[in-house]
Order: sequence, then structure tokens, then C-alpha cells
Amino acid sequence: MSAAGIVIVGGSYAGLNAAAAARAAGFTGPITLVGDEPHLPYQRPPLSKDFLKGRVESSQLPLRAPKFFDDSAIELRRGHEVVAIDRHKQEVVLAAGDSLPYAKLVLATGCRPRKLSVPGSDAAGIHCLRTLDDAQAIARECAAASRVAIVGGGFIGLEIAAALRTMGKEVVVVEAQSRLLARALPPELAAYIARRHEREGVRLVFDAQVASFPTRGGRVDAVLLADGTEIAADLVIVGIGVVPNQELAQAAGLRCDNGIVVDERAATQDQNIYAAGDCTSHPNPFAPGMTRLECVQNAIDQGRVAGTNAAGASATYAVAPWFWSDQYDLKLQGVGISTGYDRIVRRGDMEQGAFSFFYFRGERLLAVESINKPGDHMLGRKLLAAGAKLSQREVEDTGYDLKQALAQ
Ligand code: ADP
Repeated sequence: MSAAGIVIVGGSYAGLNAAAAARAAGFTGPITLVGDEPHLPYQRPPLSKDFLKGRVESSQLPLRAPKFFDDSAIELRRGHEVVAIDRHKQEVVLAAGDSLPYAKLVLATGCRPRKLSVPGSDAAGIHCLRTLDDAQAIARECAAASRVAIVGGGFIGLEIAAALRTMGKEVVVVEAQSRLLARALPPELAAYIARRHEREGVRLVFDAQVASFPTRGGRVDAVLLADGTEIAADLVIVGIGVVPNQELAQAAGLRCDNGIVVDERAATQDQNIYAAGDCTSHPNPFAPGMTRLECVQNAIDQGRVAGTNAAGASATYAVAPWFWSDQYDLKLQGVGISTGYDRIVRRGDMEQGAFSFFYFRGERLLAVESINKPGDHMLGRKLLAAGAKLSQREVEDTGYDLKQALAQ
């Protein structure tokens, strides 16, 4: 049995950054990164965009070359699933039956797509998109597909809709709610994005309940809605949100509540176990209560905090979260968390296709969401980090340089 060092479960952004940060913090013992996917840790954002369009190949996706793992003495165990944590013995059990001892453990297990369980949902031609294997399966079938139905009008669904529409497919988005992006964006911004999809020729169907997926010869042939509407489709992608992979933690008696509960040091209630990324529920000074985030930034930054603390150094996580989404030539970028806003102040002209929404609660700036305004986004990050004060008039006045608010 090898000496106990840091074991990290999950080989994506959070896990990789935890491993790198632990080494960077001066940890000299063994670091093992265990992931159930067969690939090197890879970039996920292109999967729903340029990868589907064939503009990015799988060989361009790895986040780090194999040399990085050798040079940093990080043992990467790909294709291995951890099936249990024994907190008493301080070891994790792998599916193959062997176990790995740990001094410190980092759980970076991410999320998995939420399943839609209706008759026909296991038919050929129905996919979700989370992993490279998922994206490859969709890309393989894309060539022959002409009518694509996307279930779920969130970020994943809409990015795929944009990519496939650009490739000339007929695309229908089937959304359960009465508008797009209800979880993430306010109605005004969601309506703007909806209009753009419609202008591109995407059909949006709202208040839709999928009843079943009729098949022909074992392959999906349509989406049947509860109201009897039948939408012909030879390829279906289900993007109805994700659920945190918290079962390992839960079975080990760690507190979970919409994610593995951690503090601002990414620590669970077990002093030897940390967690980071999409799978965590954590406090964030920029959000009320506990938060679970599904974005690359959170995985990277919280992963670093977990790795640093696991290495015996000290770090806390206090970043205003940020994200982006690319659809057609729309670059949506957001920073901060708008929950609880009482006012949106717009900067720039929506008709011109480049503008930002600034969200306030009282005098406090909570978040900035921009379309094709990367300058506003970058500034938003600085304004939030600095806790800068801004008036509505200053935000609305595009002649006013918001950088001045940083100088005060
Ligand atoms: P993601 O960021 O992974 O796309 P979101 O939660 O933002 O996830 O978006 C998922 C979308 O799917 C939401 O707009 C939600 O209303 C929608 N949705 C959830 N369940 C269903 C369903 N059964 N049928 C259609 N749409 C659904």
C-alpha cells in the first residue's frame, strides 16, 4: 500500500486545479487524481459549441498535457470510479475493489444531467451533453440528422440549438416553463435571447410537457407533448439541468443539501475531507445563504482553495462568480449573483446588440450581465470585488467612465 497523501476524486476543472494547487502550495507527498472518464482532464465549454460544429477537435481539448502530470508528480488514474469512502480508515474504495489511503481527500465529483423519464427516453437518437463521450455521440449522429428537438431552454440547450442551427439543422426547443433561462436570467434578457433564436429560425415551444418519445425501428422519431402536439425529430438532446454527484459523500455521512456542504475553506465537517466545484453547496460573500454554482470559474477557484487547504496551507474562497455563454455571435457574460435584486439598470442600447444589465438591491450592486460588452463584464468583476458604489445615473450614462467608481 502506498503512503497516504492527497486523493482527489473527480478529474475535471475542480479536481485538476485542486491537484495543481496542492503541489503549488508546497505539498511534497503523493497526489492522486482519480476520475471515471477515460480522457485526460479536458475543456467542457467547447463541447456544446465549436466541438459540435467541428471547429474544435478532441485532441485540442485537454486542459494539460501528460507532461504536466509527470512534472508535478500527480498520479492520474483515469477510468476509475470511486464507489465508497471509509472515513474511519481514511481510504477510498475503487470499483475494481482496491482501495487508496488518504491523509486528505478532495471530492470534486461534479454534476450529472437530470434524467427525463418518459416512455421512449432510452431510445437511440436521444442524448444529453455533459461529457466528451456525450458530445462525440451527438457529433456522430449530427451528420445524418436534419430535425433536432432540444428539450430544455437553459444554457446547454440553447448553446446546442445555436450550434446546430448554424449547421443548417431544423431546430425546435421544447421548454417546460413559459420562457427561456428562467433559472439563470431575468425575463428581459431571456426574451432578448429568445428573439435572437427565433430570428435564426429556431422554433421555441413553451409550457411544454414531454409525454413520450415515439420511436420507429428503435430510434426516436418525434417528441410527443402532453397536449397532443407531435414534433418530428431524428435527433433529440435533453438539457433539463443537472444534479450534484453527492451520493459518495452522503453515504459517508457527510452533510449534503443540494450539494456537498462546505465552508469558505471548501472544508466539509470532516477535517480531512474537502469538496469543490459544481458538487458543493457553499457560502459566498456575493450571495445570500448557501450557493451551488455550475460554472467553470467556481470549479477552478474553489478547486484551488480546496487543494491549498488540503496541502496544509490556508486559503478562503470569496470570488464574485462569473460565467459566459456563446450563442451565435452573442457573447453573454455575467458576474455576481442577482438573487434578491430590486432594480435593473441598463447600460447601452439593446437594439444595437451590445449592452449590460446592472442589478441592484437598494444601493448595492449585486451583479452585471452583458451581451457583447466584454469591457463592462471585466469592469463588473472589479466593481464587485471592490464593493464600488455606483448611481443609477452613472450606469445609464454611457458617456460616464465607470472606472471612476473604482477610484473612489
Ligand atoms: P443548464 O444550465 O444545464 O442548461 P438550466 O437549469 O439552466 O440547466 O436549464 C434547464 C431548462 O430545462 C430550464 O429552462 C427548465 O425550465 C427546463 N426543463 C426542466 N425540465 C424540463 C422538462 N421536463 N421539459 C422541458 N424543459 C424542462
